[in-house]
Amino acid sequence: MVRINDNYLKLKAGYLFPEIARRVNSFAQANPDAPIIKLGIGDVTEPLPEACRSAMIQAVEDMGDRDRFKGYGPEQGYGWLREKIAAHDFQGRGCDVDASEIFISDGSKCDNGNILDILGADNTIAVTDPVYPVYVDTNVMAGHTGEADDSGKYGGLVYLPMSAANDFVAPLPDRPVDLIYLCFPNNPTGAVASRETLQTWVDYARAHGSLILFDAAYESYITDPAIPHSIYEVEGARECAIEFRSFSKNAGFTGTRCALTVVPKSLRGTTSDGTLTDLWSLWNRRQSTKFNGVSYIIQRGAEAVYSEAGQDQIQTLIAFYLENARIIREKLQSVGITVYGGVNAPYVWVQTPGGLSSWDFFDQLLHTCHVVGTPGSGFGSAGEGYFRISAFNSRANVEEAMARITAKFA
Ligand SMILES: *Cc1c(COP(=O)(O)O)cnc(C)c1O
Repeated sequence: MVRINDNYLKLKAGYLFPEIARRVNSFAQANPDAPIIKLGIGDVTEPLPEACRSAMIQAVEDMGDRDRFKGYGPEQGYGWLREKIAAHDFQGRGCDVDASEIFISDGSKCDNGNILDILGADNTIAVTDPVYPVYVDTNVMAGHTGEADDSGKYGGLVYLPMSAANDFVAPLPDRPVDLIYLCFPNNPTGAVASRETLQTWVDYARAHGSLILFDAAYESYITDPAIPHSIYEVEGARECAIEFRSFSKNAGFTGTRCALTVVPKSLRGTTSDGTLTDLWSLWNRRQSTKFNGVSYIIQRGAEAVYSEAGQDQIQTLIAFYLENARIIREKLQSVGITVYGGVNAPYVWVQTPGGLSSWDFFDQLLHTCHVVGTPGSGFGSAGEGYFRISAFNSRANVEEAMARITAKFA
């Protein structure tokens, strides 16, 4: 009989979003006329920018023309897209990143998981708490953890608690770690990392020979000019960090699928006999073997993000969501609720009023305001007592949801 990967059985059953759906459905069944507004899911709501759509339509026409037709493209992505990303997103910010170090993919979620293919099984791994669950679950699947305890923490992982006490910035681990997952601007807390914070982490990683996996999916939401958009803006990061980016949240590509991963050629790891080896070659080999590239049509759509019209249109999109976030922050603050994030990020991290648990506040909002958010405890035990409200929604829904909440808590 075929054997399965036992590690999958260690995964805690997908709890958070199914449980939210269960509670919302049972409320909706009992109250079929209640106009429920969902500010829970981390997905964009605005349509694709016009510049991206017309580039994709043109690319479809290319595919119908014998001379312009494209078959398999480079597994790493087309040079014209990688060059634009390198110039605009990195070199334009003073980062020493070459186009050949940029790997185009169909999503940051997959890259975040797939990167484990090129890393060993015995690394000590640090994750923040709360955390984007993909980092944890992919390590569970790869057999890098023990079992989960009652609080949902997996044996063998080093959890770095983020709370108001440390401005939601991950503290350095109290023991040496080899692999560190950082996400800034953060999902779910909306916190950002200052240049000094990132420098502290890069210095730590270089001193300990660790690798930082830096998820910059929300970098385009940074409005404060002092906050780095890329970890490569920090001295020494080329020696210790891989960066993940995506077109999902800046250009609305969640359903279109295009992302990128930067693997500097200067990164080194050791083999089991202690020999230094470069990671770029391993990732290049991994992608060439297991991936056949992102669709030409989609890459043309992503390229259009860097046109003048594309830049204008994505700035409009981002400003729209950030204005939603500002409305959410200010309305909640106006009735005395403490909030974090939502300035350089599309998530507002709410301290539950009256010391309610995350799930009790969820139920209260659902039942009295018919508004759905995400309980902070679902992202890790340090998220208990917090609640995530997403700015990804229509203006009308955000305003209506805030009117109901302010009426209730006034
Ligand atoms: C949305 C998101 C991503 C992007 O994932 P894609 O697969 O590129 O859509 C990556 N990391 C975090 C933390 C996210 O919230």
